[in-house]
Amino acid sequence: MMKSMLRVALMSVLFLSSLSAQVPIEMITLSVQVHRVQSAVHPWLQCAITEAEIQAVFIEVNRIWEPAGIRFEVTGIRDMQALDIAPKRFFQRSRHWVKEALPMNQLVPGALDLCFIHDMGPNGFFYGEPAVVSEVTTSTRVRGGSEHPVGRVAAHELGHALTLKHREDRKCLMAPGLRGTELNQEEMNAARLRALQMKQHGIP
Ligand SMILES: [Zn+2]
Repeated sequence: MMKSMLRVALMSVLFLSSLSAQVPIEMITLSVQVHRVQSAVHPWLQCAITEAEIQAVFIEVNRIWEPAGIRFEVTGIRDMQALDIAPKRFFQRSRHWVKEALPMNQLVPGALDLCFIHDMGPNGFFYGEPAVVSEVTTSTRVRGGSEHPVGRVAAHELGHALTLKHREDRKCLMAPGLRGTELNQEEMNAARLRALQMKQHGIP
């Protein structure tokens, strides 16, 4: 009697847990406009990334973000002519100079804007749109991390665009300068909340 009750209890626990594991998480899709920054005068800015490489980057971005139920859809790829602003001496690869050289009036309303440039000090940055990623990104190896550093950095910067802050855990996506790709539940919840707001109220 006791045994069969136990068995029923155990089976219902197994049944319920398999049910909860199968509850599909609603996928939120966000549009991304990609800009390939061009500059005839500043080689740091002149990027050469191809459309096929951009698609490969976003396969990695979406692999990383899938557990959060967020998908980034590239809705456009275009060239962006950088402004000819002379970098201040000693700050040639500064993110501030890079951002200054990007024409903000070419950002696309209704999409997250992501600019690829050639090379700069950091691998990427986001402090208000656009997110900027270096096409020659390298990052430190961590166990279980990403073998696609450009995709990993793009995923990281898009995390900032969805309100996430840095977290000092080598394996996580929001660790700066590493290869980790994990998101914790709190980050997924916060990112989904922001993504839903963007869906409802539009991406500025
Ligand atoms: Zn960061």
